[in-house]
Amino acid sequence: MQNKVSVPVKLGRALKMKCPNCGKGDVYHKGKIPFFNAPPMYDACPECNYKFNREPGYYFGAAYASYALSVAEGIAAFVISWLLSPDLSALSLAFIVTGTVLFFSLWNFKLSRILWLIIFP
Ligand SMILES: [Zn+2]
Repeated sequence: MQNKVSVPVKLGRALKMKCPNCGKGDVYHKGKIPFFNAPPMYDACPECNYKFNREPGYYFGAAYASYALSVAEGIAAFVISWLLSPDLSALSLAFIVTGTVLFFSLWNFKLSRILWLIIFP
C-alpha cells in the first residue's frame, strides 16, 4: 500500500536514498559495493514492505532519468567552470564535464532508480 505524500517530500526521501513510501527504510544495502557491480537493492522496504523489486525490465527506464541527471550535472559543471575561469580551453572543459559526470555516476544510478519508483509507483 502506498502512502499519499507530496512529490517534494518523496524527492527529499530519494536524495537521502530512503524508501519513497515511508521515508524510513533504506533502498540499498549498506557497505562496500563490489567493483563494477550495481549497488545491491533490497527486494522490499525493510520498514514498510513497499516492493522495490518489480517485474523484469522495470528499471530499464531509469536509464533515462540517469541520463537527465548526468546532462544536468554536465551542464552545471560546464557553466560553473566557464564562469570561474573563462580562459579554460575546450579540452579542459571537456575533461571537467566528463570527470563530473563520472564522479556522480554511481549516485545517479541509485537516485534514478528511486526517481523511477516515484514516477511509476
Ligand atoms: Zn518503506
